[in-house]
Amino acid sequence: MRCPFCSADDTRVIDSRPAEAGKEVRRRRLCANCNQRFTTYERAELPLLVRKRDGTTEPLQVEKVESGIERALGGRMVSDGVIAGILGEVESAARAAAPAISSEEVGRIVLEGLKEADEVAYLRFASVYKNFQGAQDFEKEMAALDE
Ligand SMILES: [Zn+2]
Repeated sequence: MRCPFCSADDTRVIDSRPAEAGKEVRRRRLCANCNQRFTTYERAELPLLVRKRDGTTEPLQVEKVESGIERALGGRMVSDGVIAGILGEVESAARAAAPAISSEEVGRIVLEGLKEADEVAYLRFASVYKNFQGAQDFEKEMAALDE
């Protein structure tokens, strides 16, 4: 671990104890170069999971969500920030929903994000996500956009 004060690589652990009811390890470190002390926290990273409609779970693959959004956009231009923003929301919702977020919830977050960014992309994504039965559903969505 590099010293945050002087950037020397020569730091050592002088104390180590559990924190957050054992969910973290807190370590005090001492820099041999500048003698400053600092604290680091170690925490297990939980894999983010998605629960699918059939009840099984799989790891959340942000790339998969991203390619779904890009398919919906179908070459339509939106700023890079839009997709990154939606993916960020999906990730933080998945973290909050631990151990697993439902695939419906992921779809809903993407829909909300697209609705704000691009109506055509929104409708394309909605038609897949909601398994539209026919033109009637599509019209309902179009009408909802005017609300
Ligand atoms: Zn140092």
